[in-house]
Amino acid sequence: MPVTGKILINGEWVKGGAGTFQAMDPSTGKVLEPSMGKASQEQVNIAAASAQACAGEFRRSSLDRRARFLNACADEIMGLGDDLVQRAMAETGLPRARIEGERGRTCSQLNLFAETVLEGDFLDVRIDTAMPERKPLPRPDLRYMNQAIGPVAVFGASNFPLAFSVAGGDTASAFAAGCPVLVKGHSSHPGTSELAARAIARAVTKSGLPGGIFSLIMGSGSEVGSALVRAPEIKAVGFTGSFAGGTALVRLANERPEPIPVYAEMGSINPVLLLPKQLESSAEEIAANFVDSLNMGVGQFCTNPGLVVGMEGKSLDRFIRAASLRVEGLEAGVMLNRGICRAYDQGIANITGQPGVDQEAAGLRSEDRPGFRGQAFLMTVSAKEFAANPKLREEVFGPASLVVKCRDKAEMTGVVMRLKGQLTGTVHGEPGEMADHGEMIDILSQKVGRLLVNGFPTGVEVCHAMVHGGPFPATSDVRSTSVGTAAINRFLRPVCLQNYPRNLLPEPLQNENPLRIRRRVNGKQTREAI
Ligand code: NAP
Repeated sequence: MPVTGKILINGEWVKGGAGTFQAMDPSTGKVLEPSMGKASQEQVNIAAASAQACAGEFRRSSLDRRARFLNACADEIMGLGDDLVQRAMAETGLPRARIEGERGRTCSQLNLFAETVLEGDFLDVRIDTAMPERKPLPRPDLRYMNQAIGPVAVFGASNFPLAFSVAGGDTASAFAAGCPVLVKGHSSHPGTSELAARAIARAVTKSGLPGGIFSLIMGSGSEVGSALVRAPEIKAVGFTGSFAGGTALVRLANERPEPIPVYAEMGSINPVLLLPKQLESSAEEIAANFVDSLNMGVGQFCTNPGLVVGMEGKSLDRFIRAASLRVEGLEAGVMLNRGICRAYDQGIANITGQPGVDQEAAGLRSEDRPGFRGQAFLMTVSAKEFAANPKLREEVFGPASLVVKCRDKAEMTGVVMRLKGQLTGTVHGEPGEMADHGEMIDILSQKVGRLLVNGFPTGVEVCHAMVHGGPFPATSDVRSTSVGTAAINRFLRPVCLQNYPRNLLPEPLQNENPLRIRRRVNGKQTREAI
C-alpha cells in the first residue's frame, strides 16, 4: 500500500492544510517521498469536535463490539504486509527483525486488550443494594462502574514506531476503555504512522463504528500538538518522549479552563546495583549481558541501563574491564533521527566534561559511514563526585552508561538515595546478600515502577502484571503504567448511579448480570445475578 502523505480527520483522508514536510532515512540522511501533510488548526478542531460527537456512542458500545474492533485493528495491521515493515525500516533505521518483532508485539497488545475488555474486570463494578429499613437512615441503591473518560490525545513515540506509536499501547488502551483517539504522529516516522492509521481506519469501517473515533494529525508538536491538548473536547493525554516535551504538555493541560490528566512517560537512567558476592562470582557474565542490554536498539530504549552502581575493588574492576572490551567492539548503530543523534553527542560531551568522569571505553567510530550514528560509551565516576553533581543523574538517550564506584555500603546507599524517580531499578545479588542490603533495596524500590533481580531492564513484557511507570520525572503520574493491561485505568473514570431506574441501567449494572462479569455485590465478589 503506498504512502500518500494525507492525514485522517473524522474518517476522511485529506490533504494537510498547513503545508508539508518530508521524512528522512536516518541510515543515509536522504529524504523520503512523498511529502507529508501538516494539519491546520482548523483540521485539529474538526478532528476534536468529531471525536466528541461520537464519544457517547463509543463509550456505550458493547464490550463484544469493542473487543472485535481491537482484534480487527490487529488483523488490518498484519494485512499491511511488508509495506509497513519496509517503510518503518526506512524511516527509523531499525532492522527488519526488530520491526517485525515490534509489529507482533503491537498486534498481541491489541488482542490482549480485546480479552481484557471481554473479561469486564476493568469496569470494577460495585453494587450496594438499597436497605430501605436501615436505621437511623435507609441506604439508597448505589451502583458504581468505570466508564470512558472521553476523547484522548496520543503522542506517538519516536523510538517504537509501531508499539508506542499510532496503533501502540496508548491507543489500544484508550480504545479498550471506549475513548475516541486523536493521534499526533511523530514527525520522525510519518509514513509508518499513515499506514498504521489506514489499518485502524479500515477496522473502524468494518466494525461499523463512527469515523470520528480515530484521527491522525501530523505536524509540529508546538503547533499541532499544543492545539490538540488545548482542544476542550480532549479529556486526557498519553505521551512518550522527552522530559521537556512531557512537562510542556503537563503545563498546557493544567492551564486549560478545564485541566486534564497527562500521562507522560519521560526520562529514566534505570540504575543497576551490583552487590559484592554476585559480582565476585559472575562479573564477566553480568558485564556481557549488561553491554547487550545497553546497546539494544542503539540504546534508544526508555529502560536502557544508563547507570551502574557497585563497590570499588577487584570484582568491579573485572566488570569494567569485561564491559569495556565488549563496548570497544561495538559498531556505531543508526540512531532514529538527526535530532536524537545530536542530543546524544551533546549528552556525551556534557557528561565526559564533568569533574571526575573517566571515559573507560568507546565503541567503533563511524566517520566514513553515512547517516546518524551513535557510538557506545562506558564511563566511570566516584560516588563522591556523583553525589556532588546533579548533571550526572540526567538521561543520555543512547548506548552510554556511567559506572559509580562506591567505597562501602553506606556510600552506595547514599547514591541510591540521591536518585530521582525511575522506570526501573535492578539489583544483581545473591539471595543472602540481598537480605543484607535490604534497606538499600527498599530505598530503590520507592524510586522505581519496576524492580528487577539478576536481569536487565530492556524488554518490557506486555501482560497483566507489568508496570511501565514510576515517580516523577520518569513519568508525570506515579499512579499509572503505560504498558500492560493496567494501562487502561488511565482512560477511565468511576461513576456512581444512585437509585437509578432498573430498566435504564447499563448492562454491567443490571441485576441479572447479563455479561456474567465479576462484580462486588454488597461487599462480596460474585458473578451471580442479584
Ligand atoms: P520529544 O521531542 O519529546 O517529542 C515527542 C513528541 O512530542 C513529538 O511528536 C513532538 O513533536 C511532541 N512535542 C515535543 N515537545 C512538545 C511541546 N512543547 N508541545 C507539544 N508537543 C511537543 O521526543 P523525541 O522526538 O521522541 O526524542 C527527543 C528526546 O526525547 C530524545 O533525545 C530522548 O532524550 C527523549 N526520549 C525519551 C524517551 C523515553 O522513553 N524516555 C523516548 C523517546 C525519546 P515534534 O513532531 O514537533 O517533534
